[in-house]
Amino acid sequence: MKSAIIGYPRIGTNRELKFQTEAYFRKEKTEEELKQVGKDLRQKHWEKERDARVDYIPSNDFSFYDQVLDTAILLNAIPNRYRALNLSPLDVMFAMARGHQQGDKDVHALPMKKWFNTNYHYLVPELSDPKEIKLVGTKPFDEYKEAKVLGIETKPVLIGPFTFLQLASYQEGLNKNAFVQPLIKAYQQLLHQFDTLGTEWIQIDEPALVYDLTEEDQKLFTQLYEEILRHKQHVNVQLQTYFGDVRDVYQTLQTLPFDAIGLDVIEGVYNIELIKTYGFDQSKVLFLGLVNGKNIWRNNYKRSLDIINQIKPHVGEIVLSSSSSLLHVPYTVKSERHLSAEYVRYFSFAEEKITELHELSQLVDVTDVAADECFINNQQLFENARTEVDQHVRERVARLTSQDFKRSPSLHERKKRQQERLKLPLLPTTTIGSFPQTADVKDNRRDFKAGEKTADAYHCFNKDKVKACIKWQEALGLDVLVHGEYERNDMVEYFGEQLNGFIFTSHAWVQSYGTRCVKPPIVWGDVSRRAPMTVDYATYAQSLTKLPVKGMLTGPITIFNWSFPREDLPVKATVAQIALAIREEVLDLEEAGIGIIQIDEAALREKLPLRQSDWHTNYLDWAIPLFRLTHAKVKPETQIHTHMCYSEFTDIIHDIDAMDADVITFESSRSNLELLQTLKAVDFKMAVGPGVYDIHSPRIPSVPELKTTIEYILSVLPIENIWINPDCGLKTRGEKEVDQSLKHLVNAIQFVRETI
Ligand code: GLN
Ligand code: ZN
Repeated sequence: MKSAIIGYPRIGTNRELKFQTEAYFRKEKTEEELKQVGKDLRQKHWEKERDARVDYIPSNDFSFYDQVLDTAILLNAIPNRYRALNLSPLDVMFAMARGHQQGDKDVHALPMKKWFNTNYHYLVPELSDPKEIKLVGTKPFDEYKEAKVLGIETKPVLIGPFTFLQLASYQEGLNKNAFVQPLIKAYQQLLHQFDTLGTEWIQIDEPALVYDLTEEDQKLFTQLYEEILRHKQHVNVQLQTYFGDVRDVYQTLQTLPFDAIGLDVIEGVYNIELIKTYGFDQSKVLFLGLVNGKNIWRNNYKRSLDIINQIKPHVGEIVLSSSSSLLHVPYTVKSERHLSAEYVRYFSFAEEKITELHELSQLVDVTDVAADECFINNQQLFENARTEVDQHVRERVARLTSQDFKRSPSLHERKKRQQERLKLPLLPTTTIGSFPQTADVKDNRRDFKAGEKTADAYHCFNKDKVKACIKWQEALGLDVLVHGEYERNDMVEYFGEQLNGFIFTSHAWVQSYGTRCVKPPIVWGDVSRRAPMTVDYATYAQSLTKLPVKGMLTGPITIFNWSFPREDLPVKATVAQIALAIREEVLDLEEAGIGIIQIDEAALREKLPLRQSDWHTNYLDWAIPLFRLTHAKVKPETQIHTHMCYSEFTDIIHDIDAMDADVITFESSRSNLELLQTLKAVDFKMAVGPGVYDIHSPRIPSVPELKTTIEYILSVLPIENIWINPDCGLKTRGEKEVDQSLKHLVNAIQFVRETI
């Protein structure tokens, strides 16, 4: 059997691409130099894949920022405001990704959204003129040729037109239909050009097929591909899906003239049933995605071979593949020099996964598998339990009753009691928690971790920062302060490090968006809290000011969603353990006199199952109660905040309200405050702080612009329910920008307050 992967990480084993791109943004690197970095990385990745004997090596899986943005540019979907900047193509791309502010030029970035159910973010293409849509770019061809020069035949990866249309946003008065014909033409040309180049295979990704599809969606999909494939000549076309099953179009896929179909049988277990029930066109190759592209555990060869054996009788040729692009896992366990071998042997990152694919492809043909050494070694990992059970935690979870999940009195009653205690002005201003993580903050942490600084010196430094941060916020005139989160490298890692059950890597970075990477902890065993985790900094910050300082916590669902989950315990059980640990922390903060506690659930939306029929049963029915578990026991006058990013939650708005916090702040500036109308329509109960400006971009919002935004919010929602804040934490921004932005925010709110 042959093997394939859908895509490889691109940020570099040591995040080279991130650092070099950031240097380019600071003008310390030229465009030529940056391009060379990209070229070197591509070469390294292709050679690595070739050496691991991957048979189908992808190209065009590289990107300087985002593959959806690349696709938009390839198809000439570049809004005029970016063209008008008169920048080089590379800088136009970065302007679309990050916004551009220089002299009198000032444009926002495109909106950013989560890529399906991952923590990767793509830029939302904006489609405004069907006449403009045509194949103008050359990136897929260039990268194919680049590999060819190295003697490597690759399989260029493209995002398909169906997914592109589903993800795009449309100018008023336009919809998908207007763009179908130009897209068909562009993709026909793509195929044609690959024919000319002599390319053997291309891979067209259509992950949007794993959503619930309407009849109309299905028709659109069929129409697109009947046309695109009509004049297909030499190049073989593989239709690739991932993150779920394709139940709505399975049979259509069989009848369309694709040469191969890629199916994920990890998240799309149901694909196995579909193959068994409906068969599989013998003239097509099945790319069988059974090495998990999203998690970091070793593949269970016995299980994989079972799946292959179940499927084999129904299919002509099978190629073994990753279940999704490996973009979502780190590079290699080889970089983890500090983790003991006892842990490491259970892990498989991108580099190890390509080896697993090769090993599996060999094992398939071995007659006596049970006697194969490679197989035996693999089986040993799964035969015995990996960790010991923490009986105490298990019992605490088992003893929970419905009272543990219900906060009383009502929100309405709490609001009165909280106002009596906090005495906040109308339209209170606040921030989401973190303040800029400047070089000194990072150096301090690095020195401490490297053992070059004592714990005392480390905390002392942070406390000085906290002190300065409190002074800064007082000077700005904010109403509810934060301590700044200087002691946190990351909102999940910080907690994971202090909880039993988590382990940490030193290099296991995964791209989140553009140059931003995260290093998710790994849930290794049962989770419990050892000691208070945030009380010290919170009480210190509160001791410096008369204004309220929010205690800052990350919620259990986010801690879980942004970690690599264990696979030997149900998800719900792990989240319950984390929720109990956070509840202890909440109660300790309250006890220590902290009057406002924010429990961030930045990642709640992102793990919503892709199919609506699974939303409640597989997720919300336990996730929302487990959030309530963290705060249900606090006093009425303690105000609970929560925060969410990328607020695409119109359709789960009742579930969000059922979290029963007192205040929710959320990202909304990149989605044009669309959510407000929904909040109004459902008579949303919690107070809300819709982000009034975008912190993911370096641009500074002006006072008039902020005033307009605030006035718009006031025109939709009741004034006594509104908070004013940026849309997320400020840790990635510079101090100067933050200072100016927040000054503008406070100025704007002063104007507004004067007029009411
Ligand atoms: N409190 C966190 C911060 O301000 C929240 C970050 C987030 O929502 N991603 O950094
Ligand atoms: Zn956020």
